[in-house]
Amino acid sequence: MSDVGSRLHDVRARIATAAERAGRDPAAITLIAVSKKKPAEALRAAFDAGQRAFGENYLQEAREKQNALADLAIEWHFVGPLQSNKTKEAAGYFDWIHTIDRLKVARRLADQRPGDRGPLNVCLQVNLSGETTKSGVAPADLPALADGVAALPGLALRGLMALPAPAEAEAEQRAPFRRLRELRDSLNDRGLALDTLSMGMTADLEAAVLEGATHLRIGTAIFGAR
Ligand SMILES: *Cc1c(COP(=O)(O)O)cnc(C)c1O
Repeated sequence: MSDVGSRLHDVRARIATAAERAGRDPAAITLIAVSKKKPAEALRAAFDAGQRAFGENYLQEAREKQNALADLAIEWHFVGPLQSNKTKEAAGYFDWIHTIDRLKVARRLADQRPGDRGPLNVCLQVNLSGETTKSGVAPADLPALADGVAALPGLALRGLMALPAPAEAEAEQRAPFRRLRELRDSLNDRGLALDTLSMGMTADLEAAVLEGATHLRIGTAIFGAR
């Protein structure tokens, strides 16, 4: 087995163990292999080991890998910051965008989504306090943004994403993930139907699974250090 293949195997085992602790079905958790700064061959090795969903942060880098891997049936997730002048490529070449934090970007994606590709799956990135980036909508502004995005044709609003600051202890890691789940639940109580929580990375995937993550975004544990 390739290094990437054996590391993927270990990550799947971590997910299965955490799912068992949480009393959840591991099949309800999608592993996204975040491959920023890694060459196309590393993604191909992961694909050969059964991985199908890949996440990229930079559009130009992603386009190069998409061209090199056009023979593979990959589900492409965009997980990086998205500027409004880059939406056309994002809308055309990805299946999911995880990082919408303003209506302007969502409107452009909706307008630019090619009709033959079906709705673009999107998540709203929420800035819980203490994030490492400034991206993300404030929780207070989330309901209005969610209503606006849900009304756009061409987009399927699937859920919420967060990138909390690193924390050591599991209890500390769980707190922001729980908050994200509660925000999702309160939007659903207001009439939306969000099925996705995109949360959890290499260092905190167990905490994310325990709090209901449906999509884990894992880079280092699969591909090694960047
Ligand atoms: C890089 C990145 C990840 C993966 O992080 P690891 O700690 O390497 O698993 C997940 N989500 C986003 C948004 C990233 O930029």
